[in-house]
Amino acid sequence: MGLISERVSSLAVSATLAMSQKSAELKASGVDVINMSVGEPDFDTPDFIKEAAKKAIDENYSRYTAVGGYLSLRQAICEKLRKENGMEYTPDQIVVGNGAKQELANAILATINPGDEVIIPVPAWVSYVEMVKLAGGVPVTVEAGLEQNFKINGKQLEAAITPKSKMIMLNSPSNPTGSIYTEPELRGLAEVLERHPEILILSDEIYEHINFLAPGERIHSLYDFEALRERLMVVNGVSKAYAMTGWRIGYIAAPTVLAKAITKLQGQYTSGASSIAQKAAEAAYLGPQDCVREMRDAFERRRDLIVMLASEIPGWKCNVPQGAFYLFPDVSWYIGKKNGDRVIESSADYVMYLLEEAHVATVDGGAFCAPGYLRLSYATSDDNIREAMRRIKEASAKLK
Ligand code: PMP
Ligand code: GLU
Repeated sequence: MGLISERVSSLAVSATLAMSQKSAELKASGVDVINMSVGEPDFDTPDFIKEAAKKAIDENYSRYTAVGGYLSLRQAICEKLRKENGMEYTPDQIVVGNGAKQELANAILATINPGDEVIIPVPAWVSYVEMVKLAGGVPVTVEAGLEQNFKINGKQLEAAITPKSKMIMLNSPSNPTGSIYTEPELRGLAEVLERHPEILILSDEIYEHINFLAPGERIHSLYDFEALRERLMVVNGVSKAYAMTGWRIGYIAAPTVLAKAITKLQGQYTSGASSIAQKAAEAAYLGPQDCVREMRDAFERRRDLIVMLASEIPGWKCNVPQGAFYLFPDVSWYIGKKNGDRVIESSADYVMYLLEEAHVATVDGGAFCAPGYLRLSYATSDDNIREAMRRIKEASAKLK
């Protein structure tokens, strides 16, 4: 009998976290690595949020909270959803957990039976497929490459639906592509989903605030389509908007029956999220929002910089990301090229080559179900972006 369960043996390691770890190890051994692998804001958490956490410690917010989170935090989240997104939820429909990641996993575990199919447009964030498999579900990927700006359409969705379809996962703005579904594009998907009332919708909106839409344009969600709301779950959190990745606070907003099931699961697994981090998140939602805008502006400037520098690298084909903080170039041009004895046989090889030759850490597109691409996180300083792209260009030029 094996020591490790089949469930975990067959689980892939999170490539984003693994690559970041590898780059940290190289750095510790003295190599000057620029880490563009993991995606997290490089900013510090704003001071007013940190002050709220210190106050929470002093005021003894030190016991277990309600499993789904402090009522005051869930109220603040409902207020945020109403004001910023036009979404109507009550606190009993909100479950706060250890990051958006936990709430995504909870939602899948709470609804997917072995054999159920989950439709995942790809490229998709590394954890979606693995979370579905952990629940015994069957990921059904639907491909959308650069030529369709990485967005699937209603026809593709319709073709992926079978009698076993139980859920679709949608992520806009997207990690890893930065693409954002427009209202007409969502309408195309909504029309199909309206014909299939048995399919649940898990909408990951964690990058909502990091968008580079024109002033006056707003982010759209499948929530806009009323007929879908009773089977829609919206996931969000403070990690990206408030530079709070390490605080581990995210939430899901869902119809009551689903929120209850998720809370029951969470009650057995984690008892909920850290009390101090919850008070910090509450301050984030209730406090001044200028910090969100300032960080967004910095990401937009860096997006422009990296897109410009990427256009100078021979063979790279890129979109102009509309949100999040990733560039996802098609690098398949390098497959088959050589530097001495070293042959690049895949985008994964190219990623390793860039790490070893240019000392720049990126993530292979294969981890996002899109071999042939790679992902760069530009949530780093302008200087790092310039130097990383200079090194990548130099190392790539040696591949003939
Ligand atoms: N969804 C997507 C698409 C992400 O990129 C991330 C970032 N890791 C998460 C969810 C999870 O975020 P967190 O758990 O930090 O809230
Ligand atoms: N969202 C980030 C990324 O994709 C964080 C790492 C992770 O949780 O996968 O790099």
